[in-house]
Amino acid sequence: MKTFDVVIAGGGLIGGAIALELAQAGLRVGLFERGEPGREASWASAGILSPAPESPGMIPMVPLGKASMNLYPGFVANVEEVSGQSVGFRPFGTMDALFSRDAPRDLSTLIALHHGLGLKAEPLRPEDAREIEPAISPDVEAAALRPEEASIDNRALTRAVLESARKSGAEIFPEHAVEAIRREGGRCTGLRVRGENFAAKWTVITAGCFSGNIAGVEAYAPVRPAKGQMVSLRADEIKIERVLWSEKVYLVPRNDGRILAGATVEYVGFDKQVTAGAVSKILSDAIELAPGLANARIEETWAGLRPDSPDHLPILGPTDLEGLLMATGHFRSGVLLTPITARMVREWITEQRVSVDWERLSPMRFATARRETAV
Ligand SMILES: Cc1cc2nc3c(=O)[nH]c(=O)nc-3n(C[C@H](O)[C@H](O)[C@H](O)COP(=O)(O)OP(=O)(O)OC[C@H]3O[C@@H](n4cnc5c(N)ncnc54)[C@H](O)[C@@H]3O)c2cc1C
Repeated sequence: MKTFDVVIAGGGLIGGAIALELAQAGLRVGLFERGEPGREASWASAGILSPAPESPGMIPMVPLGKASMNLYPGFVANVEEVSGQSVGFRPFGTMDALFSRDAPRDLSTLIALHHGLGLKAEPLRPEDAREIEPAISPDVEAAALRPEEASIDNRALTRAVLESARKSGAEIFPEHAVEAIRREGGRCTGLRVRGENFAAKWTVITAGCFSGNIAGVEAYAPVRPAKGQMVSLRADEIKIERVLWSEKVYLVPRNDGRILAGATVEYVGFDKQVTAGAVSKILSDAIELAPGLANARIEETWAGLRPDSPDHLPILGPTDLEGLLMATGHFRSGVLLTPITARMVREWITEQRVSVDWERLSPMRFATARRETAV
């Protein structure tokens, strides 16, 4: 039986970054991916790096998001150096454009919320917003600049992270679907993969929205897919420097001139079809935000599945099975949270402590609730 220090189930950005971090710490790592590594949510993402909460329920995630944002420049430098590949990091801030009649009041609420959470946000008059980002519609009523936010080319990042992990000594097994965790008494002793056993002291589940399909993991990771549809545009005559948000849509510029527009949030199972209705809505919202996009070429459309959890917060940390950790449920912020997730899993495995409190994100919050309901 092949033996590792750590086996990881799922070869997306989260699994790849954990493999890299652990391999660089000198551990023997095996990463198992059921298909081609890095082709699910991590490929489909928009790559916005924003620790701001999208709803009050997401506020517990803000400290983690801020910690990850602080790690990002060093994470990018490491990955680009080891892989020799560029990952399209754009630390230029993001801008919220407000169009409602209540825009001045909405703006004060937004600024106060950000400041209350220790996040930078600056109010802008419409004319200043349009001077900084001329593509924004003249109908804009107010705007806010979030100077510490960023974006990254998540497809390039995922490829580079997996390549860096491989170059650092992690063994990557494509086309190796994990069937189950192996357990002996109260311990997890590795993975069963295509009928074969792989032993390890530590096992980490990073199979995104598919994590709950691995036998033995369901109670810890009750994840479900949240479909997101996206459109990629190219418009030579307009230039966008920062991520732009309206209440309805976001626009994400890439270094190669593409502008991504997205995204829907749909609960329709594991379906990844692109629909006419979603594309039509994304396009009309995008054109409302930046009217010059009406003449843009549509280059690509796609859909991907975010790993959502019952309370929309990540599922991160050890379980009551010794040696078994979860790192999933990152929902809409998995790209943002990649560096801190990898860092904390490495800290737990090598030092049995973590530098950011992750108690609130424990996989045991679901396993315990299930047991209590069953009693
Ligand atoms: C449209 C869209 C837009 C998004 N925008 C953003 C954004 O702007 N910013 C942000 O931070 N986040 C964003 N996200 C969320 C982010 O992409 C995800 O949270 C993140 O990619 C999750 O990474 P992951 O590695 O956990 O999952 P995945 O990338 O889905 O990787 C899981 C891997 O596990 C593999 N797997 C599944 N089952 C098994 C098995 N049994 N055995 C072996 N392997 C298995 C899968 O094939 C897959 O490769 C977006 C997501 C979508 C879909």
